[in-house]
Amino acid sequence: MSEPPESPYEAENHRDLEYYVEITGTRYNRPDICTCCLKKTDIRRPVRAYGKNNTSISTRMPLCADCLKHARQFTWLAVLLAAAAYIAGTLAAGFGLRLITEGPVPVLLNALIRFAAASGIFLLLSALIRMKELPQHHAARFDSVALSGMLPENGEARMKFAFRNRASAQVFWEGNRSIARPVTSAAKFNTAKRASVLRLMLCRPAMLWITGGVYVLLSLLAANV
Ligand SMILES: [Zn+2]
Ligand SMILES: [Zn+2]
Repeated sequence: MSEPPESPYEAENHRDLEYYVEITGTRYNRPDICTCCLKKTDIRRPVRAYGKNNTSISTRMPLCADCLKHARQFTWLAVLLAAAAYIAGTLAAGFGLRLITEGPVPVLLNALIRFAAASGIFLLLSALIRMKELPQHHAARFDSVALSGMLPENGEARMKFAFRNRASAQVFWEGNRSIARPVTSAAKFNTAKRASVLRLMLCRPAMLWITGGVYVLLSLLAANV
């Protein structure tokens, strides 16, 4: 496994900053270095953004096998935690309901109690369990590059890329100098740092919505049994 090249900004990799490069048009040069750790790679991962009027654009950006691994590790841990919390919560709720009442509980109330118990345990566990900090050469756990969408301006399409690694933004800018605006930055929590699973999931709200949706569905099914 080759080491990533030394980045002039490596010491800044875990700072709470995000770097933006805006380009004109939708055609651009894609450097073949990982957007997270700068290692040379020919692996591309899809990046998607949603714009106005239900339009969406998707593109592919480089992410090496190591960085794909640390992104997937987080996803799997979150999924396992959600499953364990659901099982514990719904068992506790079912047991509690049998202790309190002998008669049947209305289905919706039953489902609500199961949902609340599972969600409560999930939030508690995910706030307590912490992911360890990634090595310094990684700049993000799972969001090393994102697309902020298409920004039409004077009838011209513009694409805005958000990088977590400053060197990666710089290399992208250099490769697209003729169509890109200078790199800008803004404050954003850095997911490569040591943080609770909950804190990291808040950076990926879709994961929380999906977990909540699955919990509602399973609670309704369990309440009907
Ligand atoms: Zn990488
Ligand atoms: Zn990485």
